[in-house]
This record gives sequence, structure tokens and C-alpha cells, in this order.
Amino acid sequence: MASASKTQTITQSFFLLFLCCQPLLAQIPNPETLAEKHQQYRVKSLEDRRVKHRDIQPLIDHYRQKPQFKVQRVGTSVEGRPLHLLSTGTGPTQVFLWSQMHGDESTATMAIFDVLAFLSDPANQAITKPISQKLSIHFLPMLNPDGAEVFDRRNKLGMDLNRDALRLQAPESKVLKRIRDSLQADFGFNLHDQSRYYNAAFTPKPATVSFLATAFNEAKDINETRKKSMQLIVRMNEVLQILAPGQVGRYDDTFEPRAFGDNIQKWGTSLVLIESGGYQNDLEKQVIRRLNFVTLISALSAIGDESYAQEDHQDYFDIPMNDRKLFDLKIKEVNQTWKDWRGVTDIGIQRIEVDDTAHVNFYHKSQIVDLGDLSTYYGYEEFDARGYDLVVGKKYIPQATDPKIPSKTQAIALLKKGYLYWQVAQAPSDVEVDVPIFLVSPKFVVPDNSLYLGKNPNFLLRKNGLITHAIINGYLIDLSQEVDSFRNALYLR
Ligand SMILES: [Zn+2]
Repeated sequence: MASASKTQTITQSFFLLFLCCQPLLAQIPNPETLAEKHQQYRVKSLEDRRVKHRDIQPLIDHYRQKPQFKVQRVGTSVEGRPLHLLSTGTGPTQVFLWSQMHGDESTATMAIFDVLAFLSDPANQAITKPISQKLSIHFLPMLNPDGAEVFDRRNKLGMDLNRDALRLQAPESKVLKRIRDSLQADFGFNLHDQSRYYNAAFTPKPATVSFLATAFNEAKDINETRKKSMQLIVRMNEVLQILAPGQVGRYDDTFEPRAFGDNIQKWGTSLVLIESGGYQNDLEKQVIRRLNFVTLISALSAIGDESYAQEDHQDYFDIPMNDRKLFDLKIKEVNQTWKDWRGVTDIGIQRIEVDDTAHVNFYHKSQIVDLGDLSTYYGYEEFDARGYDLVVGKKYIPQATDPKIPSKTQAIALLKKGYLYWQVAQAPSDVEVDVPIFLVSPKFVVPDNSLYLGKNPNFLLRKNGLITHAIINGYLIDLSQEVDSFRNALYLR
């Protein structure tokens, strides 16, 4: 018994020794675990891309109460909206992240607040403590709040802030330069969005995230500063390949003398530009927001433990280039007739967003953006229309017994009979129509079957004498299925 008790005591002492003297084991964040955790830290008040300054101000104020955060007002936008810097960490390595210098590029702004929520939760200490001991991290979310207000790229003066790094005329640009200089930041994250029509070159996959280790000169030389950017990108790419395989692109690194990314690299900060692009069925970029969250935390961790430095910077060049070969919808080889001509064509369609006056919501007004042989292009949605004829729809004039506006079921039944337009006596209050048929005025003339760039894509597809599909404002509708994901038709005068 005595020896057993002794053994127990030794074991206990050893265990206690282990507990009190073992430093908190640094934990390398697992991308999949982080992606799962995002749900917990996703700031729910930021719901979609049209994030405004008034949406983030209460979140910024929240961090004033937290002792491990320092919140400073660092400037003011042209229209008087305050710009804030949120800092955390006590380490010697300075990391500076800013988002939305283009007002309509908000994915990373949403992600930054999710990252802040993660960093501020003591439950994540195993990951966050090593980061905060090694790094001082500074976030400047929404550098261009005036642009965000109207969901526009440029600031209130119509300037592209990312072409103002030399002249520094816009107040927002001056703030960015001053913060970079005062921090003498070791690492910089320049967080943007890019068009969802970018794909990873020679693949149908969207470039969901694209990276750029900006060049600091025309020769695109690689010095120590830029090499670190590349190594960090190689690490972030590895993380993303787990969550979105094949969906990472590399942005063109042509030197842009007026851009911040290029100049900040020149000023000695290892600069990483992150572009959030498109992802399948993620119009509001909430999946991409999650990918940003995982990527940013992984990057901070890799800078903290300096593990990024083990990466071979040459692997950066293995990331496929960005290409712009995606459509929202691609129709392949449909039969078209025009007078005596009969042939096949591919149709490339983009669903263009039209904002409401408050820039909080939008509807789609689609366009044909390309025609002909589009065999080197891809669609988020593709339809093989070989053997189908393109058919112009007819106008339906409602009977006395018909409702003012058809139900979805009634609309589908009419589409099958070749009708695409429903006449209304009075213009509806909204141009956006939520049943899959166009509402038209009595004056409306049904368009012919010519196709041209810029045309609103509306037609029917017929095979073996049967109308099986409709394309309504750029949405493909399979008439044999229940319609669920339809967004909007239009009222046409
Ligand atoms: Zn941008």
C-alpha cells in the first residue's frame, strides 16, 4: 500500500509540476475545425454584402469595453464618418489589416468582425495567446465608408483610393498611409473583393479567393519583403485548398505605381492582397466570409510562430492565374434562326445587380454578355441546349376571371404554352417581379428572336415540339420541376 501511495504521490506531483510549469501548448489551428467554429463567431448583425458604417459602429464600440483591445479614432471620411483602428496583442511584430477601401467590397469587413469575436473569446487561448504574445494586430475595417453607403467602389470624391497612394489627396488615403508609417508594419493585409466572374485559369472553378504578393517595381523583383508575402500566401493557399479545392487564383502582379499594395510593399511591409471572388450559390458571399475568417486566423498564427518562413516562395507561382471566363449562366449550342439563317450559338449571361435607392437591396437585370463559340468559357450554371430551339415568348392578355398577377403555378403553365409576358393594365409599384413571368404594359411589343450583347435574356427552349425550359431575366427554369430558387422577373413597359 505504501509503495502504491508513494507512486500515486509522485504521479500527482509530476502532474502538478506539468500543469504549473508547462507553457500553454501552442495549437496550430486546423482549417476544418476553424471553419466549423465560424458559425459560433459569425457576427449575426452583418448579414449581407451591403454593409454600412452604421452596421459596424456598434461592433467597434463593443471592443472599447474589452481590456485587451485598444480602439482609436484615426480619421474621418469625406462625408464625416469616423475611421477606427482596433488593436490587440502585445508582440513586437506589427500586423496591419484594412478592408473595404473599395466601398462595394465588404466580404473581409464581415470576416474581420468574426475574427475579432474569435480573438476576444478566452476559450480560444490555445490559438490566440501565442498570436497575441508575438504580434500586435491592427484592424481598420471599412476604410471607405462613404462608398459603402452607396455600395460603390469609389469614395465620395469619385476617387479610387487604391490609385491615390502617391498623391494622397483623399482623407481616407492619408489615414491609410499614416497608420502604415506609424506602425512600420511588418505585415499588411489589403482586403478586397473581385468579380465573381473570375475563374482559376483553364478550369471551370471560380477564383473564390485570389492572392497577390504585390510587386514593388516594374521588374517584379523578389526581395526579402516580397518573399515573405509569397511564403505567407503559399501557406494560406494550403489552408484554402482544404476548404475550397481548386478555387484559389493568383492576381496579375503587374506593377501599378499608384496602388497602395505596390507602394506598401515598396515601403517595406510584406503585403498580401486578398481578393474575395465568387463561390457557387453564394451571392451574398457568406461562404467566402467564412473562408476569409479561416484564412486570416491561419495567417496570423503562421506569422506568430513564423512557420510561414518554412514555405518555399517559388510555390507561389504554382497557384493558377486568375482568368475571367465565367458567366452566371451559359447556354450551350442552342439552335437559333434569324430570317433565312439557321445555326447554333452559345449564350453567356450575367445577372447584373440594380440597387434600390437606399443601396440596401437590389434586383437583377440580366444581360447577354457574349455570343457565338464560347467553348473556352464556363458557367456557374450551364445548360447543354443541343437539339433545343430558341423560341420567342408570346404575350398573354388576362381574362376577366384571371387575377391581376398570376400565381407561380399559373405562370409555369403559361410558359409551357409559350407565353412569357403577362399584360397588366397598371404598372406595379415595383419593377422587380417575384413570379417567373414578365409583367408588361399594354404598349409592350414582344421582342424578336435576335440576340445581341446587352439584351435582357428572355426566351423559351423547345425540343421535339415541347417547351421544356424558360430563360427569364437570365434565370433558367426547368418547367418539369418545382420552381424554388427563382429571384426576379421584371415589369417591362
Ligand atoms: Zn478592390
